[in-house]
Amino acid sequence: MTPRIEINLAKIAHNASKLLQLFGAKGIDIMGVTKVVCGNSMIAEVLIDSGIHMLADSKLENLKKMRDAGIHAQFILLRTPGLSEVESVIRYADISMNTELSTIQCLSATAMKYDTQHQIILMVEMGDLREGIMPADVKGFVRETMMLPGIQIVGIGASFACFGGVMPSEKKMKQLSLLSSIIETEFSLSLPYVSGGNSANYNWFASTESVGNINNLRLGESIYLGCEPLERIPIPGLYTDAFTFVSEVIEAKLKPSKPYGETGQDAFGNHPRFMDKGYMRRGILGVGSQDVLVAGLSPEIDVEILGSSSDHTLLDLKQTHLKVGDEVRFSLNYGALLSAMSSPYVSKEYHGTLSESHEDPRPTEEKSKQKPISKNLDIRTHCGLK
Ligand SMILES: *Cc1c(COP(=O)(O)O)cnc(C)c1O
Repeated sequence: MTPRIEINLAKIAHNASKLLQLFGAKGIDIMGVTKVVCGNSMIAEVLIDSGIHMLADSKLENLKKMRDAGIHAQFILLRTPGLSEVESVIRYADISMNTELSTIQCLSATAMKYDTQHQIILMVEMGDLREGIMPADVKGFVRETMMLPGIQIVGIGASFACFGGVMPSEKKMKQLSLLSSIIETEFSLSLPYVSGGNSANYNWFASTESVGNINNLRLGESIYLGCEPLERIPIPGLYTDAFTFVSEVIEAKLKPSKPYGETGQDAFGNHPRFMDKGYMRRGILGVGSQDVLVAGLSPEIDVEILGSSSDHTLLDLKQTHLKVGDEVRFSLNYGALLSAMSSPYVSKEYHGTLSESHEDPRPTEEKSKQKPISKNLDIRTHCGLK
């Protein structure tokens, strides 16, 4: 069935254990970030089997999904919760990341109500300008938070290369390290988590002489796509092709290359312009922006993506002989992976299972999607086509 995303679990397992080894050699532990795979429980289980024991996601729904699938891990909410989510945070997250005192007050009250303790990591702003407490305010923030019952500060952290594209440099990592020492000394607090960032910290890690107090990173992209996200350079020894997006040709015809007739807006409100290259072999795939971030797909064969609407993607078929029913395979960037894994229209197909005894925790109707896909050729023969 298409569209589908093929997920090679063995390659994900390989990447996860390589990264654990690599970072572990300098005392850095890893949280496996599951948001880009939408809290997929097959993948979460592979991460746990590979030795990762902390799973982090920005969506409570995903944390719940993994818990419900019987996955045993420490669950971390990666994103400052909304006030309306506080009850669920206490239920589904062992640790949450926080930046607002009013939210922590609410978490405290809710933890008390349920007679439990909730652990938090305080995110510090270090220049990327997404979430974070301004460094000058951190001490006051810690002081006030320590007075709240039911709340335990277990770490500090920072985010890089998420909004502002700011790099986790040696200098920034030293500042975060220093800040953790100051907090530990001044408040007699122990901070088991000093979380220096995400996959973008790879280059810093590879070149630094000392990681200082940084003892944790939260990794998504490098586990799944095998690259660091600053320049998108592959990390040595990792697979970059654990995921493949597969779509199918639904029309293939010789047509003009330039739309003809009076023109207005396209499906998304743009006024597109086209070069007249004469007639070309054009193909249509039965996927569009409702299924996947088309701009994040790279074809494995020599065809060019001309554009897409909600449910069609247009190809210049170039010298290929693609015909109706043929499958076209693509590699995915981070945005495409996120969209395909989140889309209910894209079926998920698992490959490279680690062992035959590996239990498949998905509901039966999902399992049936895993049946061997008949080759395109068979589909054509079946329909009496050549
Ligand atoms: C998404 C996210 C990560 C993971 O980032 P990658 O670049 O995929 O490694 C880490 N931390 C936070 C707070 C995030 O939101």
